[in-house]
Amino acid sequence: MRVPFVAGNWKMNTTVTEAEELVYDILDTLDRIKGVEKVLCPPFVSLAAINMMLQGSSIKLGAQNMHFEIKGAYTGEISSLMLRELCEFVILGHSERRWYFGETGEMVNKKVKAALNQGLKPILCVGERLEENETGRTEEVVREQVTTALNGIKPTVLSVAKNLVVAYEPVWAIGAGKAASGKQAAATIKLIRSILAELWNKDIAQSLRILYGGSVTSNNIVEFISQPEIDGALVGGASLKAEEFLSIVNQTAEIKEKPV
Ligand code: PEP
Repeated sequence: MRVPFVAGNWKMNTTVTEAEELVYDILDTLDRIKGVEKVLCPPFVSLAAINMMLQGSSIKLGAQNMHFEIKGAYTGEISSLMLRELCEFVILGHSERRWYFGETGEMVNKKVKAALNQGLKPILCVGERLEENETGRTEEVVREQVTTALNGIKPTVLSVAKNLVVAYEPVWAIGAGKAASGKQAAATIKLIRSILAELWNKDIAQSLRILYGGSVTSNNIVEFISQPEIDGALVGGASLKAEEFLSIVNQTAEIKEKPV
């Protein structure tokens, strides 16, 4: 049984005050939703304050990125060693990092290793761009991203199955207001699960959570979450609106509770 998972990626939005207000608005209701692992990923500067606010609740905290070195002369960067005092999860390989900041597959691999070594749980993002989708290269691109990101990671040593979450986020669907279809997303997620089975083994692949991300809203979450292959969502824009995010998590809990 894979526990459904919904994470909100706030991206570069909210000041510390606004972040606290948003958490204040969702805290009690979100805390009461059972059967879903709930994670908020605010900007770095708000992690400490929100960590305090979430103490004693069922809501978990994640960062949006990190450097792969533990410490050193990397001005402006944040490491896994710093993050592990504040949060449990870290988004890695988000397409905005890959395409706006030149993050390579090798860098993502180093980050995944560093996170796991420090006991942080990576939410590893993979997904194809529009032209790759349109030219039938989705499988090739996703396979390359998954295998490069997880290269050299031994599941036995790092209990990867427990600590890793994968998010399939087609780049063309992120922030676009145009999501993939549930069927499309489920097909690629099934493919990712088969790549994980080849890489490690079937049991691990079956126990890992794989999310869909890309223009998820309260109006389309059911389409994704009703697919047995899809274990939850990584939500960007809609996670900044209290009612929207609560509705997405609520619907996820309701749908996943029903036997398939
Ligand atoms: C994201 O940032 O991971 C994302 C999926 O964004 P949005 O929901 O806004 O498309």
